[in-house]
Amino acid sequence: MSNSDVAKCPKNPIPEYAFIGRSNVGKSSLINMLTQRKSLAKTSGRPGKTQLINHFKINNEWFLVDLPGYGYAKTSKTSKRVFQKFITEYFSKRTQLICGFVLVDIRHEPQKVDLEFMQWLGENQIPFCIVFTKADKLPPSQIDKHVNAYRDKLLEDVWEEMPKHFVTSSSKAIGREEVINYIGQINKD
Ligand code: GDP
Repeated sequence: MSNSDVAKCPKNPIPEYAFIGRSNVGKSSLINMLTQRKSLAKTSGRPGKTQLINHFKINNEWFLVDLPGYGYAKTSKTSKRVFQKFITEYFSKRTQLICGFVLVDIRHEPQKVDLEFMQWLGENQIPFCIVFTKADKLPPSQIDKHVNAYRDKLLEDVWEEMPKHFVTSSSKAIGREEVINYIGQINKD
């Protein structure tokens, strides 16, 4: 089911897990890797194109929710960070939501927009994990360094510990088991 209105999202009380990140972070590719479909989520070079909340029912047990990318909105004079109203509405209202997966490109320095979004989730007591994407683009020796840069930044802010995180690559199918098993484990509990 696809829609842009939180009130119209499925009423089923089955658990759901939402995937979100800046445009181009590799969200569609990750969803396709997790579900082992070529094009369940549409990958595209056009940032910010998808403005819909997509619910995919997995094995009749849980929903994988594909949320629109967040980022910058151009106004006439300045560009301003925005989380579309319905993204915040989604996270605030969906009682079925078990965990959000916030995607960040492992190559980049921690970005303000992502840190602010995690901060907002924390303040609103919404559980989330971090998914580092495109790990194949870094030499293995650099992976920990980049994850630690994120950890340092979060601990410098208000976080007491690094949230649960996963290192993934959709092109090399890295991290699939870990994410799927994590969801499976929570569903079992
Ligand atoms: P979305 O906008 O967040 O849904 O991002 P997409 O999944 O469409 O990916 C954006 C771009 O990054 C595309 O050119 C993908 O081919 C590329 N990409 C996505 N995941 C990976 C990955 O794990 N490794 C590499 N090397 N490229 C990736």
